[in-house]
Amino acid sequence: MSDLLQKLLSFDNTLIECTKCGRQARPLDVDLSSYFHKSKGKWASQCKECANKKKRAKAMADRIMALRHYSKSDIPFCGCCGTTEISWLCFNHINGDGAKHRKELGEGGDRILRFFKKNGYIDGINVLCHNCNASRSTRSECPHEIQRRIKVAIHNA
Ligand SMILES: [Zn+2]
Ligand SMILES: [Zn+2]
Ligand SMILES: [Zn+2]
Repeated sequence: MSDLLQKLLSFDNTLIECTKCGRQARPLDVDLSSYFHKSKGKWASQCKECANKKKRAKAMADRIMALRHYSKSDIPFCGCCGTTEISWLCFNHINGDGAKHRKELGEGGDRILRFFKKNGYIDGINVLCHNCNASRSTRSECPHEIQRRIKVAIHNA
């Protein structure tokens, strides 16, 4: 028997099935590698799509946990305008050391979550929405803060 034939015969072409969605593929299928990951010689138990979904869900859960912690509320909100739209919320560095921190943590949204995982929920962070965060970093003050000052001034007048 030729080496090649032996190799082919010993090749395990057993059907692989995703434990989550049931998608099936065989190692000899051309498109297998686009469906399943292989690590340490073993095929992943879930297809790439399901594994990615799980990863995204986990990342979202981590983000919400951190947002809740820093909002000190079950429903996270922007500490300036009060919006509760999760996708608009971000972590803001009090004392404006954000630039330095961003350098350490990088701009990527997941970086700070990895940082929290490693170092715990450090002090000096609050939750703002992207709008308020951007206004504060470019103008040092959000229009909401100016509005609040005006209201207080009118109230005290
Ligand atoms: Zn799947
Ligand atoms: Zn806001
Ligand atoms: Zn604001």
